[in-house]
Formats: sequence, C-alpha cells, structure tokens
Amino acid sequence: MPGNPGFLRPKDDDDETPAFKIDRPDLKQDSQTTFIYNRNSQLPLDAQRRKLPVFKSRDSFLYLVEQFQVVVVVGETGCGKSTQLPQFLLESGYSSQAGKMIGVTEPRRVAATTLATRVAEERDCPIGTTVGYSIRFDENFSRELTKIKYLTEGILIRELMGDPLLNSYSAIILDEVHERTCQIDIIMGLLKKVLKRRKDLKLIISSATVDAEYIRDFFNRGQVKKKEIATILSIEGRHYNVDVHYLKSPCADYVKGCAEVATKLHEKETAGDILIFLTGMDEVDSCVDHLEKYSERAGESRHGFKMLVLPMYGALSPGRQLKVFRPAPRGFRKVVVATNIAETSVTIDGIVHVIDSCFVKQAWFNAETFTDSLIISEVSQASGEQRAGRAGRTAPGKCYRLCREEDFLKLPLNTPPEIQRTDLSLAILQLKALGIDNIVRFEFPSAPPSRNLICGMELLYALGAIDDQGDLTKPLGEQMAELPLPPTISKMLLSSGEMGCTKEIATIVAMLQVENIFAQGKSDKVKVLKRQFEVEEGDFLTLLNVFYAFEKQGMSKKWCNSNALRYKALKRAYDLREQLFKVLRRFEIPMATTSDKESVLKCIVMGLFPNAAYLHPSGEYKSIRGDVTLKVHPTSVLYTEKLSPYLIYNEINHTKHIYMRDVTSVDPVWLEVLAPHFYEKRRVSERVLF
Ligand code: ADP
Ligand code: MG
Repeated sequence: MPGNPGFLRPKDDDDETPAFKIDRPDLKQDSQTTFIYNRNSQLPLDAQRRKLPVFKSRDSFLYLVEQFQVVVVVGETGCGKSTQLPQFLLESGYSSQAGKMIGVTEPRRVAATTLATRVAEERDCPIGTTVGYSIRFDENFSRELTKIKYLTEGILIRELMGDPLLNSYSAIILDEVHERTCQIDIIMGLLKKVLKRRKDLKLIISSATVDAEYIRDFFNRGQVKKKEIATILSIEGRHYNVDVHYLKSPCADYVKGCAEVATKLHEKETAGDILIFLTGMDEVDSCVDHLEKYSERAGESRHGFKMLVLPMYGALSPGRQLKVFRPAPRGFRKVVVATNIAETSVTIDGIVHVIDSCFVKQAWFNAETFTDSLIISEVSQASGEQRAGRAGRTAPGKCYRLCREEDFLKLPLNTPPEIQRTDLSLAILQLKALGIDNIVRFEFPSAPPSRNLICGMELLYALGAIDDQGDLTKPLGEQMAELPLPPTISKMLLSSGEMGCTKEIATIVAMLQVENIFAQGKSDKVKVLKRQFEVEEGDFLTLLNVFYAFEKQGMSKKWCNSNALRYKALKRAYDLREQLFKVLRRFEIPMATTSDKESVLKCIVMGLFPNAAYLHPSGEYKSIRGDVTLKVHPTSVLYTEKLSPYLIYNEINHTKHIYMRDVTSVDPVWLEVLAPHFYEKRRVSERVLF
C-alpha cells in the first residue's frame, strides 16, 4: 500500500489505519448501481441513438475493426460505448454466421441485465431473443436467436472452460476495462492466446480513461514480424483546460478540508457547480451535513447564490441519484459530494470546480490477515487527472487538490490493477481449470506479486483444491473452480454432503452472499426483534434461523416488516439457494439435512478454517495465522456475548480496527482434526493458555 509523507490521515489514534468507518456494501460488487441518466429520453429511440457521440465514429470504428483484430475504444461515460458498439457490429454483419454471437462482458451483474434490456428495447425485440444476458445464477438468451449477449466477466471465464476457443462468438467486447478487475486481466491474458488461434475473432476493449496505450501494447507485444494487431480509437469528447491548485501545507482532516474549500469557493466564485471527491458513504454524508449547516447559517453568497448540497454514491436510491443530474434551480449552486463513482462511472454536467481529497477506498490483499480488506489510500496521479478532468467538460474549469504539489508528484503514476492488490486464490483456481498449469509463466497484462501468488497456492493446497504437484484435484478442485464463490466458501459447500448438512450449509452460503438481511436501525425495538433469532454459537446459525423462520412463515413480506427483516434480501437468498441446490445436484452431492448443530459447525470449519482466531490472555482475539489483533464486529451476535476461546470468521473489515464479520465459536479440536495439515496439533494447543 502506498504511504507518502505529507498525506496525513484524519484523526488516527492507532497510526496506520484509517479513521473512517468503511461500509460493507462496497465490498460486494452488486450493491454499486451504475446509474444511467438519459438527457434525450423524450426523443424516439432511434433519434436518441443518433445523438450519441459514438455515432459519429461509427464508420471509423467499423473500418478499424476490419483492419485490426483488437480495437481499444476510449470514450467518456455516456458516449454510447456499451449500448452502441455491439449494435454497430451486429448491423454490419459480424454475427450473421449461424451460431456466432457478439459477447459483451460487464464487471457488474446489474450492468449486464440493464444494458441487455436497454439494447433489446432499442432493437425493438423481447429480451432473451436477439439480445440476451447471462449472469451468475441467472440467464435469459436463446442459443438459436441471440446475437448480442451481455455477460459478466466471471461467466465468460466459465464459458472459456467449456469452449476454450470461444467458438460461439464472432466478437467479444470487454467493457469498462479501466476498472482492471482480476477477471478482466485474466480474460485479456487468455484472449491473447485465443486470438492467435482464431484470426477471425474480433476483440473490442472499451475504456473510459486514457491508459489505453498500455492495453494496446500488451496485445501487440510478441506478435510475429512485429505485426500490430491492436489499435486505439478515441471518441471525440471536448475537453477544456483545467487549472490545478494545491495546498501549501498538508491537510489533517480531508473531509472537513473539502467542505471548507467548497464554502470558500462558493463565497468567492460567481458561478459553476462544485464536485467533491471523497472515499465512502459515511464521509460523503458527514461532508454533506457540514455543508448544509454552513448553508443554513450563511444563506445567500454575495453573488446571490444559495448552496444545493447533494450526496452521490452507489448505495443511494435511484430517485436520489437522479437529483444530482438535474440542473440546479435558479439562484442555487449545486455542490455534489461523491465517492469514486463520479470518477468514471457517471458523468455530471455543469461541473466547473472539482475538489479532490486525493484519497480512495480500495481492496488490498493483507498479508497479515491473508485476506482482502478495504483500505483508504492515496489516489494515483492518473486518477487525480481523471478526477480533475471532470471539471472541464463544458467550460474551462478548476481543480483543488487537498495536498501539496510535491506530495502529489510522489504518488504512484497509475492505480495498480486488482490482480496486483487482491487475493488470488479464485483466479489461480480458474486458470488451472483453463489448463494454465504454470501460473507464474502466464502472460498477465500486469504480473501479480509472487508473494500473493504463493499465498493463494498455499490456501488452495490447504483446502484440498490442488495436490502437491500443483494440479487441480478431482473432483473437489475442479468443482471449486466452477463455483463463482470464494474457495473457502466453495469448500464448505462441497463438503456439506459428506457432513450430512447440505440444506443447512447451502442456506448459510446463500445468506452470506446477500447484504443487509436485518433492517437498519439502532433502536431498541430492532435489537429486541433481532434477538429472537440469535443463538449463542454466533452469526452463521443465526442466519440459518432467520431463513428457516422466513420459510415457515410462508415467505411473507408482512412478517418480514414486523420482524425488522428485509424481504427483498431474504427473497434473494431464497433464489440463490435454489441455484446452489441445482449446482450441487449436478455435482451429485447428496442432499442431506440435519438438526445436529455440531455437524453444521464442523462443515463450516472445513472451508473457513484458515480464518480462525483465538482468545489471547490479554482478552483480545488474535488470528491463528499471523497473530494479528482482531475484533468482533459490532453487528455480530457475538459482539456482546461472553468471549469464546476460538472463533471462525467469514470476512475481514479493516477500518479503525481489524474487524471479523460473520463469526461463530468453534471447538479448537475441530481445527486440528479437520485441518491437520494447516494447524499442526502443537501449534493450536500451544495457544490454549487459559
Ligand atoms: P457508455 O457505455 O459510453 O457509458 P452507454 O452506451 O451505456 O454509454 O449509454 C449511452 C446513452 O444511452 C446514455 O447516456 C443514456 O442516454 C442512454 N442509455 C443507456 N442505457 C439506458 C437505459 N437503461 N435507460 C435509458 N437510457 C439509457
Ligand atoms: Mg458503458
């Protein structure tokens, strides 16, 4: 993780960790909605299409696709890449051959379904016919009819396992490549091989930022006779000059700092909306609060404007997001306080001033806890430039960075792609299943750190997914590679048959995939309602209780409402569980059910044993691997319970402290018996110091 002098973190009391609460939703991709704002929605669909900037580049795009095998298309959010590029290919006959489709990958499931729906509408056909989609546990397309298929990156990787040359596609569009997810990098590495064998396959890479050269060069590297197979197409978008301003001395509290700059600008500048970049929902809310109080106090600025302060983050309801895109009413200046979502995911018109905290929240592999945690870190210079650019879309703009110039220039040039920052165990498993035996020699667009690779291999070995030759085990390793779940969770699920608790474990796994089962609220009433499901063992069995009660009540919405539970979340868990059952049946895992708590807990240990903590005599928990101090998260059932000597957790949340989420107490003997290779007898018992 970068750490530069001159960047003071806000209000730290233990020095390396950020002081702001990190919200769980960000860890899970699905909660981030990429909001779509359509300023031409009153026009007929065809006219809307023709108004998009990408339309002007249609001919150049098709020409370059003819000439090159790989075309990297760079264009701002909203210019029409995701919806139009596949249609351009379709209209010029790229998928006219029987059985060949145009595949478009998306990092987020919601994007895949909404884009498919929109494009089906533009083509005036029912979804699932010419245009379809395929996402984890849900698909709607036809093998005979579908010509454009939106799919998530994970699904494309799974398809590559069955169809290594992607014979059912004539073109692949990788969308949102600037996000550089692990999966995108794996796909790019694999596709580079596929393109050599399938000269007729076209690859379009779409990105919202200008780091396209790196990708182009990756595909051109090592070609026979240095023949270039990749090129770049930039879609016109006007950019005005943006003046950048820095601080003279480092800022101690960037949330407050950003608010102060905004109030000064508001008083000084005649016009122009303001966009503030912070790292998460809580920071945004606190900054909005600050500015609203100021605005109430100050009233109109001397230029006759009032402030209209608006938050913007993924978890906000669509209705509230929409407000951000509407022009401010007369006499008001819009101040949008946003997370990183406004860097590339959405574009807001009329922004003239950008205030950049220069921080971002990102997942990093933590070699101490052996898991990913979300950490607030400094942005890269490229991100800083991209954020500043948001001020110069309609007129010359200004950007205020909350750091000194010399510190900004010391920041890393680019944000490391996810593959260099996060847990690699699932990636390794998938590559192995794709026949890539020597992961170290695989041509990644950006090579992952060898230490992370080793940690990933060790974990997979301990889980029994690979053998001592490094090969996938049969059937366990192969089945784990097919499951779109973290390997620890897959192992737990696949062990449930032999442990006689398939139904219970599938239910728990489904519940763990869904966020916010319990209604928000700290009131005593909510707490009391929650307590009726709680069991002393911890969160896993509590989740199971909630689900069984929901089922018993006929999955009633009314019952959910009166018990502080979220119906939508539970319904989603129900659907997910159905999907898991389907997969388990395909793997011929026996369907069993039990009322014996112990076998359920043992089965949890069989997968999650690497995430174990013990109670140190000091009264604190420490991880068995790594001896890192961990705390039980306040949302856990075990938060206020009497302390049990050994715990297993599902997830780490790294905020002010390192928190364990979804926790259960276990018998240490199980660790020794169920994971003997991982916890030698001596090591665990030595820790029993009471
Ligand atoms: P890009 O991928 O370049 O960000 P898109 O192709 O997703 O752009 O969207 C182009 C435009 O199409 C948007 O600005 C919006 O006007 C319109 N659009 C896209 N999806 C939808 C949708 N689901 N509903 C309404 N309008 C949409
Ligand atoms: Mg897009």
